[in-house]
Amino acid sequence: MALTPPATLSPSKVSSFKDCALAFRYSAIDRLPEPPTAAATKGTLVHLALEHLFEREPAERTPVAARADLARASAEIRVDPEFVELALDPEAEAAFFADAARLVERYFELEDPTAIRPIGLELRLEAEVGGLRLRGIIDRLELDEDGGLVVTDYKSGKAPGQTYQQGRLGGVAFYSLLCEELFGVRPSRVQLLYLGDTTTIATVPTEQSTRGLRTKVSALWKAVEQACEREDFRPRPGPLCSWCGFHAYCPAKGGDPSLVAGVVAARAAAEAAAAAARDAELAGAPVALRVVAG
Ligand code: SF4
Repeated sequence: MALTPPATLSPSKVSSFKDCALAFRYSAIDRLPEPPTAAATKGTLVHLALEHLFEREPAERTPVAARADLARASAEIRVDPEFVELALDPEAEAAFFADAARLVERYFELEDPTAIRPIGLELRLEAEVGGLRLRGIIDRLELDEDGGLVVTDYKSGKAPGQTYQQGRLGGVAFYSLLCEELFGVRPSRVQLLYLGDTTTIATVPTEQSTRGLRTKVSALWKAVEQACEREDFRPRPGPLCSWCGFHAYCPAKGGDPSLVAGVVAARAAAEAAAAAARDAELAGAPVALRVVAG
């Protein structure tokens, strides 16, 4: 039986198909749970702190205010299941928050936030591109001095070497494409701010680069549909395996792919029960009765 392709994809998921088709399948089609990592959760915290900073009036975006915004974001992240699941011991927890504070501090070495004119923060965009429904969240959309759109993406790690820079910019270029589809305007710049080593990588999207990206998305989507049709998603071991949460199911890592069906079935049953409970609640009947009846 052929697999159903995902209804929508984020830019990072689109790129992940090329990195390892099996990891893509496990994440985007089977939707297997991925254990949170301290690095990703720290990134979430820093993004949240910077989002709060940019909710302030320009003149108020000072390092002192950023510390207060980080404290606010830290209180929010402490009750987030992603952070709770990390189960950090006191020492690791102290290092986690100290690292986040360093990253927020370094942000001020990259730009002057009082001069930024944001028009959208954590902006959710969705559009049809090359037959695929693409959706993503832009960290910050702002206007430059000439009124052009600038797409900014924060990264809590270090900038990649020259060889990988184009690939990373390719990811953020998807957001530029989404802007063009939705607002009818091509951004004048897309940039990645690497807080880990205070490096900015920027590029100017052009007619040619946009056309190339559309063709790429369309070809990639065809490849995904074909792989679904043939149920052919092969593992591609490489450096990314170190960050992959699917070793237990990956044959290239001694894992057992037959476990996947059980996890998917359990999730489907849990989702069906939750939907039935919601329907019962909406109908105003006792939830337990409705779930049993369903
Ligand atoms: S462990 Fe490596 S090869 Fe296996 S699914 Fe993950 S990324 Fe792919």
